[in-house]
Amino acid sequence: MALSDDQLDRYARHIVLREVGGMGQQKLLGSKVLIIGAGGLGSPLVLYLAAAGVGTIGLVDDDVVDLSNLQRQIAHGTKDIGLEKVLSAQQTVADINPDVKFIPHSERLTRDNVQQLFGEYDLIADGSDNFETRFLINDACYFLKKPLVSAAMLQFEGQLSTYKAYLGAEHPCYRCIFPAPPPDDVARTCGEAGVLGALAGTMGSLQAVEVLKELLDIGQSMSGSLLIYDALYSDFRKVRVKPDPGCPLCGKTPSITSY
Ligand SMILES: [Zn+2]
Repeated sequence: MALSDDQLDRYARHIVLREVGGMGQQKLLGSKVLIIGAGGLGSPLVLYLAAAGVGTIGLVDDDVVDLSNLQRQIAHGTKDIGLEKVLSAQQTVADINPDVKFIPHSERLTRDNVQQLFGEYDLIADGSDNFETRFLINDACYFLKKPLVSAAMLQFEGQLSTYKAYLGAEHPCYRCIFPAPPPDDVARTCGEAGVLGALAGTMGSLQAVEVLKELLDIGQSMSGSLLIYDALYSDFRKVRVKPDPGCPLCGKTPSITSY
């Protein structure tokens, strides 16, 4: 479908980019992305993907907006306290870009609904806040062959990568790098250990950039690399990560055969 006059205006700064152009913008408008979590990472993600004209955006979260969320979860405002996060985000997205078809999934991601939810989308963006969900997302993306763009953060540090282990070869999965949840005393949540609010903006925006790159198939994918950002020392490190032959999911003798 050709771009309308309004769309040519709205996306003009994309269209002049050689790597995007009118064709790329149409590709974004035809893309379907599912975001897990409407919190610190999910907020900038949903705002930038909506502004970029990703045509269909789904958001999964079963939580309601709390006053303590507003220090970093910028898709929600003070007036939204008590409202379901997916509905609050829906209002924000509608305000930013009416081109976007926004699908609120007001539920918790579980083994029972993951296949049906992921099946509707081209790409999954993980902004969840616990390891159990991260492993479930990783495993489902592997079996359903969906690219996964994943970010995480705690206190002053953030991590980012893309996982496409279903391609084999040089593409690790999340379990290759993080084989097991850390012990309880290390696996602290942002609620317990704290997080600098603006770090969520940095990591969620980096994640949005990687999502757009994957959808447009431009530049170098983050698959096979892990980006680590230390905000206190303003240090970005990009390290090479390889598949683990002993990985229980994508290794030589997998023990995980479904999600
Ligand atoms: Zn693996």
